[in-house]
Amino acid sequence: MQNKYKEYIFIAALVIILLIAYFAIPYLTANKFKEVQLVEVRYKDQEIMTFDIDIDKHYVIEVDNGLMHIEVKNSRYRVYDVDCPDKICEKVGWVEKNSSTLIVCLPNNIVLVQI
Ligand SMILES: [Zn+2]
Repeated sequence: MQNKYKEYIFIAALVIILLIAYFAIPYLTANKFKEVQLVEVRYKDQEIMTFDIDIDKHYVIEVDNGLMHIEVKNSRYRVYDVDCPDKICEKVGWVEKNSSTLIVCLPNNIVLVQI
C-alpha cells in the first residue's frame, strides 16, 4: 500500500514536469526567435513604412533629396542608389536579421531600424 502511494506521487510528478516542459518550451523559443522581424523606416522620427525582413523585395521611397532604394534579400537589407550627398547610408551595406545596426541617412532624415 505504501509503495503504491509513492508510485502514484512519482508518476504524478513526472506528468506535471512533462506538462510544464510541453507548454514552456515552445513559449520560450517563440520569444527568442520571433517569427516576423520587421524593419521600420522612419522620417524625422515618424514611421513612414514597415517591411518584413524575410520577404525578398525592392522598395523605392521618396526622400527629401529624391529617391532611396531599399533591397531586402535573404533576410538582410540595404539601401542603394540613394539621392544623398554623403552616401554614408549606402556605406553601411547589408544589415543582418536581429542586428542592432541602424541605417541612418542624415541628409534625408531617414532611419531604418529593426523593431
Ligand atoms: Zn544618405
